[in-house]
Amino acid sequence: MEGARIRHAGPRRELAAQPSARRIAASGKTVVPGLIDLHNHSTFDADMRVYLKNGVTSLRFAGLNQDAVVRLRERATRAEVAAPRIFSCGPMLDRTPPAYPKWTSPVNTPAEAAATARRLLTEDRVEALLVTQQITPELMRPIVDVAHEFGRPVVGQIWYTDGREAAELGIDQLDNSSRIFASREYPKARLLSYGSIAERLGLLARGWMAIDWELTQPIMEAMVKHGVSYCPTLVIHQNQAGIGLRELEADRDYRTMYGEAERREWAAFIDYVQGTWTAEDQRCMAVAAEKRIEWMRRFHAMGGTLVVGADMQFGGIMLHRELQNLAAAGLSTLEVIAAATGRSARELGMGESLGTIEAGKLADLLVVNRNPLEDLSALRDIDRVIKDGQILEL
Ligand SMILES: [Zn+2]
Repeated sequence: MEGARIRHAGPRRELAAQPSARRIAASGKTVVPGLIDLHNHSTFDADMRVYLKNGVTSLRFAGLNQDAVVRLRERATRAEVAAPRIFSCGPMLDRTPPAYPKWTSPVNTPAEAAATARRLLTEDRVEALLVTQQITPELMRPIVDVAHEFGRPVVGQIWYTDGREAAELGIDQLDNSSRIFASREYPKARLLSYGSIAERLGLLARGWMAIDWELTQPIMEAMVKHGVSYCPTLVIHQNQAGIGLRELEADRDYRTMYGEAERREWAAFIDYVQGTWTAEDQRCMAVAAEKRIEWMRRFHAMGGTLVVGADMQFGGIMLHRELQNLAAAGLSTLEVIAAATGRSARELGMGESLGTIEAGKLADLLVVNRNPLEDLSALRDIDRVIKDGQILEL
C-alpha cells in the first residue's frame, strides 16, 4: 500500500525491495476486500463502529434525509466518528402520501419527478436515486432518464410497478420488498389494497407464500436480460418473522456496543412497521422468507446478480447473516464474497477503485484469521481492518 491505495498485489518477488516499507505480519491469514453494504438507513454512531469492526468499509444509504447523511459524513471527516466510506441515494422518491414521510421527497407528476431527480443529483450530489412503493412507470421513466444522463444508477424498492416493468424502463437495481414475484391469488390490485405498512407487509408475506413460478419467470428473465441486480435484505424480513432474534440478542457486539437509545429506536421502528401483526402474520413471513430464498436460487442459476444490504440497525452484525442467506440460495463462498465486494462496488459505480485487491485501487482490506472460502463465518473472525490504507483502531 502507498497512501490510500494498493500499489502492488501479488508475490513479493515481483516487487523490488522496499527497505522503508512497514510490514504487517499476516502469515497464515487471508486478505479480502472490505465488505460493502448497499442498503441501510441507520446513522447511529454505534452502527458505524460495528460496521467497521465487522469488516464493512463502504455503505450506501437507501433512502434517508440527505441532511443526516451530510452531517454524518462531515463528522467522519473531522474524525468525530469512525464510519465506513459513505454513499447515498438521497431521500426516497414516492407519491403522496409517502410510506416513510421523514425519509421521502414526494413526486406526483413526471415533470416534478424529473426536476427533483435533477436537483438531488446536482445540488445534493447524491450518488444514486431510489424510487419506492407507489412510483408508477410514468414517474419512473423521467427519473431513470435523468439519473442515467448523470451516469448514476437508480435503485428501486417498488410495489406499484413490478420488476419486469422497472427492468424494461432501465432501472439498475431492485431491493428488499420489491414486487418481483407474481401470484394468481394475490394479483396487483389485491397487493395494493392496504391501509398501513403493517398491512402491506402482511400482504407481501401472503403474496410470496402463493407465488406462481410460471408467472414469476418473465419478471426474473427481464431482470437478467436488462442486468438488474437484486439486493434482498432478507435479514430484515426474517427478523420480522422472529427468525434470528435470539442470536442477535446473544451477539457480543449487540450486547457491548449499543445502548438504550439504539434499542429504543429499534423497538419503535418494529412497532411502526408491524404494530398490528398477529402470530399468523409472523408465520406467513417465515414461509415467505423460504420462498424468497428459492427465488434467489433460481435468479442466480439464471445468471442474475445478487448483492447485499442489512437494511436497518445492527447492520455490521446483520450483513454477515445476509451472506448466509446468499449461501443458502446456492452461491459458492467465493460468489458470496464477490457479491459483497466486487459486484457491489460495480453497483456503486466504483468498480474501478473498490471491491477487489488490485494495484491502483483504494486499500480497503480485511485481514481475517481463517480462510473464508472454507467457512463464511471467517469473515467475522477479523484480525484487522484497513480503510484508505490506514489500519483502524477499533
Ligand atoms: Zn430499506
